[in-house]
Amino acid sequence: MIATVYKSTGSWYIIKDHETGNTLNARIKGAIKMDGRTSTNPIAVGDIVHYEIETTADQFGIINKIDDRKNYINRQSPSNKHAHHIIACNVDQSLLFATLKSPKTSSGFIDRFLVTCEAFHVPAIIVFNKADLYGSKEMERFEILKAIYEKCGYQIVLLSLQTKNGVDELQQLLTNKITLLSGHSGVGKSTFINAIFPELALRTNEVSDWSGKGLHTTTFAEMFDLPQGGSIIDTPGIRELGLVDISKLELAHYFPEMKNEIANCKFNDCLHFNEQHCGIKAAVNNQFISEDRYVSYLTLLENINEKKY
Ligand code: GDP
Ligand code: ZN
Repeated sequence: MIATVYKSTGSWYIIKDHETGNTLNARIKGAIKMDGRTSTNPIAVGDIVHYEIETTADQFGIINKIDDRKNYINRQSPSNKHAHHIIACNVDQSLLFATLKSPKTSSGFIDRFLVTCEAFHVPAIIVFNKADLYGSKEMERFEILKAIYEKCGYQIVLLSLQTKNGVDELQQLLTNKITLLSGHSGVGKSTFINAIFPELALRTNEVSDWSGKGLHTTTFAEMFDLPQGGSIIDTPGIRELGLVDISKLELAHYFPEMKNEIANCKFNDCLHFNEQHCGIKAAVNNQFISEDRYVSYLTLLENINEKKY
């Protein structure tokens, strides 16, 4: 029997059977072969698993095989730099909640998120929420950002969960897709989840109260089905996706608008920083590449620690 993992606590999983649509608890049988990576959690939300039913007092599933993953999003384990924690896998797209006011999401944060999505081959949508609070200054900023990001191939939505403007557009983008939800706290993610899944309201609050009391520092990613088809993966407690496994030389390849300019660099180990005859710097100078994006590139470049031989 085949199922999708909807929640993973590390030792127990909630899975949903593909044929019956029933959810049940499951655990792993013995050691399962993995794809060779070191990961602190062998099975993650979004995994497609094969299982058998074990009938004891309660019925539960025994997972005996994991299908190959189309993609995955992971982060470095806080306790061990070499171990990775998989947040979710087999996702179709990621949805970043951002705001231009109360609080203000920085471009640096957005760009780092986008680089991570590129590295994991996951298309990204950026939602600017709390539009009802935007004055002319914020609307001007929104139009600038919209132009920059759309040129790079990202989808942009202006949203207000207060007035419901933009909700239909966003719902359409989510239909029949598996979407990973991210963003700083305070930008409206829980409000959004509560708005589309009113029946979950209680549950969402319970989770935040529980973690808010500091009993536990980790909360678990969880998948929810959308009424119109598709699902959302919520990742409470995970505000940022770290930059993992990206070398300085690779970084520009994860900026879609920079990729094609690299061919114009004279040196094939060009980091597009202080080298001469650099295609990317030329494109920034003639405003083909936005200066803001280039600044984000330089900041990320500086933050990549590579071993020096
Ligand atoms: P989360 O931390 O990302 O889950 O953010 P919350 O959903 O808890 O929202 C943080 C605060 O922003 C709450 O007080 C919400 O009521 C408020 N909020 C959410 N969406 C909007 C919106 O579109 N407009 C305004 N004015 N406030 C909003
Ligand atoms: Zn260059």
